Formats: sequence, C-alpha cells, structure tokens
Amino acid sequence: MTQLQTTLRQLRLSGLMQTLDVRLQEAAAGRLGHGEFLELILQDELNVRHQRMLARRTKAADFRALKTLEDFDWRFNPTINRQQLFELAAGHYLREGKDILFLGPPGIGKTHLAQALGYEAIKQGKEVLYRSIFDLVRDFLKDEAFKQQDKTLRRYLKPDLVIIDDMGLKALPKQSGEYLLEVVMRRYENRSTIMTSNRPLEDWGKLLSDVPTAGAILDRFLHHAITIAITGRSYRIKDSLPPAQESKKTKKPNEPPTAGAAS
Ligand code: ADP
Ligand code: MG
Repeated sequence: MTQLQTTLRQLRLSGLMQTLDVRLQEAAAGRLGHGEFLELILQDELNVRHQRMLARRTKAADFRALKTLEDFDWRFNPTINRQQLFELAAGHYLREGKDILFLGPPGIGKTHLAQALGYEAIKQGKEVLYRSIFDLVRDFLKDEAFKQQDKTLRRYLKPDLVIIDDMGLKALPKQSGEYLLEVVMRRYENRSTIMTSNRPLEDWGKLLSDVPTAGAILDRFLHHAITIAITGRSYRIKDSLPPAQESKKTKKPNEPPTAGAAS
C-alpha cells in the first residue's frame, strides 16, 4: 500500500481511492486546476459514501424485492394515480409523521408501491423497515421467547418509516392484534407507517379477533391515514389475458387461485 493510500485510510477517505487514478491523470494532463482537483476528489468521496449509505439502508430495510416507481407500469391500472404516488415519494408525509394505507385485491401492486415509497425514503436519508404482518408477529414472539424485552419494539419504533405488508392475506397468528396495535399506536403522529391490506379497514376487527377492540382502535388511528384504494385486475396474470381495452367482453375474467402465494 502506498503512503497516500495509508493516509487516506487513516482519514477515512478511502471512497475517493476508486477514482483517484483517473483524477490524477486528468490533473497531470493539465485539465484540472488545483482547486478543481480537490473539489472533484472530495465529491467522489461524498458520492461513494452516499452509495454506501443507500446500500446499507436498503439491506437494513429488508425489502422482499427491490421495487421502484420507475419499474411500475402506470398505464396498466388507471385507478392508480401516478401523480399522487410521485408526490408521496417526495416525502412530506414522512416529515409530518403521516400514515399511508394501500387497499385493494391481490396482485395490483400494493407491495410494489409500498416498497417503492420505502426506497424513495431511503434515498432521502431515512431509515426504513419492511415487514409483513406475519414477520412482525414472529419477531415479537421470538423476542418474548428469548426474554429480550422490548428489543423488537425498539426496532419497530426507531425507523422513520415502517412498512407492514399483507394484512388480511391469510389468517393472522394469535397475538397479532396486540403487537400490531402496539407498533401502530406508538408510532402514531410521530413516525410514518405504511400498511397494505386486501380487506377494508372495517374488516380488520375480524382479522384481529384476539384483541376484541383492535379493529375499532386501529380504525381511529388509521382514519387519518392517506388511503390509496386500488381496484382492477392482478398484474400477475396480465399476460394470460387479452388487454382490457381490446376485450369486447364487459365481464371481468376470473382470477386463478393464488394458492398461498405471497401477494
Ligand atoms: P399486491 O401486493 O397488491 O398483491 P404486488 O405489488 O405484489 O401486488 O404485485 C404483484 C407483482 O406484479 C409484483 O411482481 C409487482 O412488481 C408486479 N406489478 C403489479 N402491478 C404492476 C404494475 N402496474 N407495473 C409493473 N409491475 C406491477
Ligand atoms: Mg402484497
């Protein structure tokens, strides 16, 4: 290792080493002044740090898959308001601690859009955690079993944004109501939570029958959430069906069963 490399490491400036050779060549060729050179290599360091931060936070968010707004086909489902999603992506809701609720049948892009908003939040320097409701309950049960009191709760309270996916998809495990209420109520008006469900809010009481009042309480809390209700057909089966516009039939095609598949 050269002396320069050692010094850069000591100063924790190893990010700029990747592009240093190129910058030195540019400088030697007389294309960069001293000030310009310094400015450029420091910018290189900042860029590398930003990329590392994105990678670290994306990993910590534990997304099911990295989905972005750019990957989304906005023409497929006209009930989804592209402009609204891009406005949300700008992140004012995060600063106001507002919650978002994606509602609609399976396959229409709820998980995709929730994760895409999560990724946008990360790009703005926020900490995000993605969990399905099943993961959430499992995390809390494990925490109890290992007597790591409140470790899990802290993990769910700390991020700027927590995404809780898949409400209503399958029968919920026992104690779901208890844990979900704890997370949603403690984050309320302080930090944002995004939830997705294929059932309307009124039905959540039935889903969370272990806490008889859970539905009513969540209803009160999520009443002020920004609700994005999507209708239409599943994107998963789009290729097996004629495009909606060209189809003369008015009857909606039946969706094939999605046997236990995560949606
Ligand atoms: P949901 O959570 O509503 O059940 P998903 O977000 O899991 O639906 O969507 C199912 C699959 O289809 C995912 O792979 C998702 O990326 C994709 N998808 C859904 N809607 C669109 C769309 N409009 N454009 C591109 N991909 C989409
Ligand atoms: Mg989903």
